[in-house]
Amino acid sequence: MSSTIIVAGSVNMDLVVRASRMPKEGESLIGSGFKMVPGGKGANQAVAAARLGSATHFLGRVGSDVFGTSLRENLASCGVNTDHLIEDDGPSGIAMIIVNEAGQNSIVVALGANDEVRPDDLSGAADLFSVADFLLVQLEVPLETVEAALDMAREAGVKSVLDAGPPRKLTLELLCKADIVSPNETETAALTGVEVVDPATAREAAKKLLDGGVETVVLKLGEQGSFVATRDLEEHVPAFRVDAVDTTAAGDAFTAALAVALADGDDLVDAVRFANAAGAVAVTRFGAQPSMPTRDEVERLVDERGGL
Ligand code: ADP
Repeated sequence: MSSTIIVAGSVNMDLVVRASRMPKEGESLIGSGFKMVPGGKGANQAVAAARLGSATHFLGRVGSDVFGTSLRENLASCGVNTDHLIEDDGPSGIAMIIVNEAGQNSIVVALGANDEVRPDDLSGAADLFSVADFLLVQLEVPLETVEAALDMAREAGVKSVLDAGPPRKLTLELLCKADIVSPNETETAALTGVEVVDPATAREAAKKLLDGGVETVVLKLGEQGSFVATRDLEEHVPAFRVDAVDTTAAGDAFTAALAVALADGDDLVDAVRFANAAGAVAVTRFGAQPSMPTRDEVERLVDERGGL
């Protein structure tokens, strides 16, 4: 039987346009290649969990505009249940992204409906919490909602992963409400003040979080893989070596895969290895949601390489 995963979080439409260079203040430039790409950390993780074979439910808000309709349809077409995706009166979350010839981005994010996701929104999903295996939350919706979702999960006996992105200062009280806290290198620095550059500094940062009361820490270290620590265990799990073309949403693939593997009964280190493989597959493809891996792809990488 497949696992059930709840993702409570953000969903955005990325509006991407190419330009020869960034416009100056007050300037209009002719660009090209306009694309709309569904994103948002919550939605990316939901798509990843569904693609990895979990029954996945998304809790959040879209706006009452064309983007809202399109974001909802996209999630549904990726196999994500949207029964608890609320339509907000205001605009959808969007990111306006200009990409120059050198491939560098300038981005303005308008949170829109994501900023309106309230603790009350979750009450309609109480039944879901009674059957789910895992809750995934990130930090692109109000922190009070993240906290309420973690409380509901704990009360219902549902395990939780807090993906600590984008970087925000969080209280230890909030961090300790999650079973697993999983930041990337920048987010780890924001949480602990430790600049993670190698396994030794990862260990130092993880120890700070454990000393603060967090039960399980899984640090995402880009091409260095990940570092997992509990009070009884500490291990650097190296990345799978792949040709990286775009690291967008690697962390989202990783977090979703971690939860899916744990829900399937893997032990912690095996689940982290599976998550490394999901992150590795994601960096071999362009874009956020289009790069999310299938279960077959991830299992093939783990079987072929056994860890490297
Ligand atoms: P984020 O996307 O949140 O910044 P990371 O860049 O750390 O997170 O990527 C998440 C995971 O994806 C890493 O822990 C690693 O397992 C995998 N990964 C990321 N970049 C690479 C890479 N260049 N090669 C192989 N695996 C990678």
